Amino acid sequence: MLDYASEQALSPGTLLRVPLGRREVAGIVWDADPDAATQAPEGVDIKPVAAVLDALPPLPADWRRLMDFAAAYYQRAVGELALSVLPPELRQLDNTQLQRRMKRARDLAADWPVPEHTSAPPALNAEQQAAVAAIAAADKPVLLHGVTGSGKTEVYLHAAAQALQAGRQALVLVPEINLTPQLEARFSERFPGRVLVSLHSGLTPAQRLRHWLLAHLGLADLVLGTRMAVLAPLPRLGLIVVDEEHDPSFKQQEGARYSARDLAVWRGKQLNVPVVLGSATPSLETWHNAQQGRYLRVPLAERIGGGAMPRVRVLDMSALPKPAGGEERVLAPALLAAIEDRIARGEQSLLLLNRRGYAPVLHCSACAWKSGCPHCSAWRVFHKVDRTLRCHHCGLAERVPRACPDCGNLDISPIGRGTEKLQEQLAALLPDARIARIDADSTKAVGALEQQLQAVQSGDVDVLVGTQMVAKGHDFRRITLVAAVNPDGALFSSDFRAPERLFALLMQAAGRAGRDAEQAARSEMWVQTWNAQHPLFAALKRHDYEAFAAAQLDERRVAGLPPFAALALLRADAKTAAVAKAFLDDAAALAEAGDQVTLYRPVPPHMARVADVDRMQMLVESPSRVALQRLLAAWLPQLQALRAQHKGLIRWAVDVDPLAI
Ligand code: ADP
Ligand code: ZN
Ligand code: ZN
Repeated sequence: MLDYASEQALSPGTLLRVPLGRREVAGIVWDADPDAATQAPEGVDIKPVAAVLDALPPLPADWRRLMDFAAAYYQRAVGELALSVLPPELRQLDNTQLQRRMKRARDLAADWPVPEHTSAPPALNAEQQAAVAAIAAADKPVLLHGVTGSGKTEVYLHAAAQALQAGRQALVLVPEINLTPQLEARFSERFPGRVLVSLHSGLTPAQRLRHWLLAHLGLADLVLGTRMAVLAPLPRLGLIVVDEEHDPSFKQQEGARYSARDLAVWRGKQLNVPVVLGSATPSLETWHNAQQGRYLRVPLAERIGGGAMPRVRVLDMSALPKPAGGEERVLAPALLAAIEDRIARGEQSLLLLNRRGYAPVLHCSACAWKSGCPHCSAWRVFHKVDRTLRCHHCGLAERVPRACPDCGNLDISPIGRGTEKLQEQLAALLPDARIARIDADSTKAVGALEQQLQAVQSGDVDVLVGTQMVAKGHDFRRITLVAAVNPDGALFSSDFRAPERLFALLMQAAGRAGRDAEQAARSEMWVQTWNAQHPLFAALKRHDYEAFAAAQLDERRVAGLPPFAALALLRADAKTAAVAKAFLDDAAALAEAGDQVTLYRPVPPHMARVADVDRMQMLVESPSRVALQRLLAAWLPQLQALRAQHKGLIRWAVDVDPLAI
């Protein structure tokens, strides 16, 4: 925060342009200092502001408090944070241009188009009514706990209707940009004529500014968006919904590493407006909060239309006889037969495999060469379509070598299986079936995802192969079989949240099957596993989130992991691991840990090297969030100076409440 002089009295929240060194940058009047001397203290040269952008109404006090809180909690400078969350284009405009943009926004809002289709709200069932009433009455965040198809979105719509009725704005957060269009359609059909805008990183700079202005001017009644939307100024905010609140994408992974869900809860409390966290598989943090009475759990136990959840079949792969000829088994015979049944009935199947590309690694049988990335601690993935080896971390792509680069052997072969290979193998097993694939590679082109989803909806696909991308949110009406082909990796991952994420993914995927009640009875979720006795699958079979959560929370309590401990990670990136480690060691020496906070030794993270940068990290842990925050606030400001003593250090950063350690 810096001081500047101004001739005119400036309201807090006013946007400015100020000189900084030789440049002119954006600024915001933070708080009027009641004791500010009109005269600068002697010897201090306070520069005048360059321009006052007072065409824009000041950023409101509650928004500035949100920025203060987020900056303090996630250990960032408040000015840097506040400016970084404004639409980039806003920082470029002068007063006249701003006035023009605002007039355009006002004109748009005044003449907001009414959609062709509108929908009347269905009569809510008893559980939904209770949920809507609970949201209106609650004095704490509401956890809306219901499986896919239990009518959660309908509850959001009714809660939003109440907010609009009261003259307030409603904010709805979703985990992925891909999910915004269908939600937008549903909200605009329900609220014809109401101004609805989206906020996410897929907008053009002009769109983003326009939508943000509509939100900030209080003209937008409904704001839908990804995590960034929680940081928009909303002068009439009356409801916040976080859909799929357990989704990891609500946590920003760079810069200010904020959790949009947690900021939503804070913002709701600050403004005393309802916050709804919706999920079939709440994060263990949220579940724990509900059990402790800090959140109110409101269940939606029934699927709309009374459809049952699909039957879960856990296939013990270790019990199957080995296929003849030492060939690799693609699918268990029973699963293949079940897919063939579906095809014969004109129904669809979804096969999930969380690994894109053809094979995760190429291998030379003569000298044991493997397709490692020269710049990262990762294998380069074999993509057969364009015969490349691609690193999914640094992007290095090269043509597949004809022969082993080390020994010249011509016999180099893929190990393991990605979605491309599964698709190819299925085509061989089911020659008459129409097989499609949806993953990050198949959907790179603009509009490709919509097109591929459309092909599935309209029945042009019999078997869909996909990564977790397809498990989320999409409403596939004709899918009656979902199969997880190889989910075992997550059971033994070093990431302590991996089981939680796998369970959520499988429950969500199961929810893709049989969304039409008449099909629900025939719907099945298959899991191929070499660990059929794992308790995670036992809970999944019973659709028993609560048992799964209880078991996980026990493990976390014993291990001293969240939600029973607060964590922060100090990360250092450098040219060599030794430099990164030396920085972290010196940093640790400056920390006054006391007996409430534990600093662990620096270790390399799972991906220790990316694009020729070595990474190290240090875990800081405390049973007390307050103690951890106190330590960080006193400690981190000293690290800027420390940095200068470590040549070769590229960057350091802190991640408060990290998702993975
Ligand atoms: P979720 O968000 O939990 O997946 P939705 O709100 O999308 O569930 O509801 C699933 C389907 O049931 C949607 O097509 C929705 O329009 C419909 N639906 C929801 N509530 C009702 C209701 N009370 N009566 C009739 N249909 C409903
Ligand atoms: Zn070789
Ligand atoms: Zn790489």
